[in-house]
Amino acid sequence: MSEIISVKAREILDSRGNPTVEVDVATTCGVFRALTPSGASAGQHEAIELRDGDAARYLGKGTLKAVDNVNQRIAPKLIGLDCRHQETLDNLLIKIDGTENKGKLGANALLPVSMAITKAGAAASGVPLYVYIGQLFGIIPYRLPVPMCNVINGGKHAGQENSIQEHMLMPTGAKNFTEAIRMVSESYHNLATLLKAKFGASGVLIGDEGGFAPSQIVDIDERLDLMLKAVENAGYSRKMKIALDPASSEFFNEGTYTIGPKSYSGGEMVDFYVKLCERYPIVSIEDGLAEDDWDSWVEITKKLGSKIQIVGDDLFVTNTKRIRKGIELQAANSVLIKLNQIGTVTETLNAIKMAQDEGWTAVVSHRSGETEDTFIADLVVGTSAGQIKTGAPARSDRNAKYNQLIRIEEELGEKAEYPGVDFREIL
Ligand code: PEP
Ligand code: MG
Repeated sequence: MSEIISVKAREILDSRGNPTVEVDVATTCGVFRALTPSGASAGQHEAIELRDGDAARYLGKGTLKAVDNVNQRIAPKLIGLDCRHQETLDNLLIKIDGTENKGKLGANALLPVSMAITKAGAAASGVPLYVYIGQLFGIIPYRLPVPMCNVINGGKHAGQENSIQEHMLMPTGAKNFTEAIRMVSESYHNLATLLKAKFGASGVLIGDEGGFAPSQIVDIDERLDLMLKAVENAGYSRKMKIALDPASSEFFNEGTYTIGPKSYSGGEMVDFYVKLCERYPIVSIEDGLAEDDWDSWVEITKKLGSKIQIVGDDLFVTNTKRIRKGIELQAANSVLIKLNQIGTVTETLNAIKMAQDEGWTAVVSHRSGETEDTFIADLVVGTSAGQIKTGAPARSDRNAKYNQLIRIEEELGEKAEYPGVDFREIL
């Protein structure tokens, strides 16, 4: 039941139309498939995503080397092993690669193998994936996440320079996950109506994560005002909060942050967020400062950390070494979790555990280049992380995850729990 019979990788397309890697792991229970996503505003300290660099194929972005690494180097070493031994198998993958940053075989080779093994392990154990992840993690899962839904896309995800990347709605006042998604969907469609009235067809162009990308608006106040108006028109004013991911490493250069025509030092950037939080119902800011600007991270956490969630994405890259440093410095109070930043399921679970043991939150996240794989939906429930960000409630690469969470909530029935406004106090 649990013996690995074969491991096969192939090159397929992600949501942006770029190549990525999918892997099939076969056991006598069946074939278990996992696909790896890909970031655009990727952090410098992330595990390496191997690209072929052959300009004649996919503009250099081909993944045939990573595919070959799975089929030739990884597969022969896994055949015959027990798919339920996740940690041992992940350690073996790390050993076969042999580098600190997965630079030899590529995190895009290791991760889909690791995720497919988890799916095979769940089937061999006869339980749903989220329950099996709960077993690996050491909990009985019943907690659904509060979604962070990116309804206005800026920055690299919308072809814009020096622009805040993600403007998200958090339905903290919903009574359950299914209602939460409905509230966001209705607000999203109200936002479309407002944008169309204001800018015509170009106002409703879509960015990489399914949110609107109105290039006419650079000013964050204007973006947030429109979002709040849409929420009001949908009838959810008191039930919806705002989360931001400026992805500021993208507009940071030699000590200066640049948003639109304005420039800021690290300290001025922190003050910018402090004032923004006075004007808007913001409950979470991710990557407000750049990936190595540790001093400004410490400052923002001192000034805002008792009021809102301060999330490190490019800062921590799901890497326990960097999370440990952040804990020592008190540089944040939350970690963004992206499987492909680190490259295996076990290392991802360890990152979540380290955050939670410190009383920090962990926010499970998609990448801007996604696939139809819904693994992160099961991951967020299986670890009781309590928050997921996986784009606007639009485009199937994003909604695949939300839809899987609706199914899990139905399956859990009365046992299901939705943290709502208590998303920071769940630990
Ligand atoms: C992010 O920055 O949080 C994100 C999802 O974008 P990307 O996948 O491009 O890094
Ligand atoms: Mg981010």
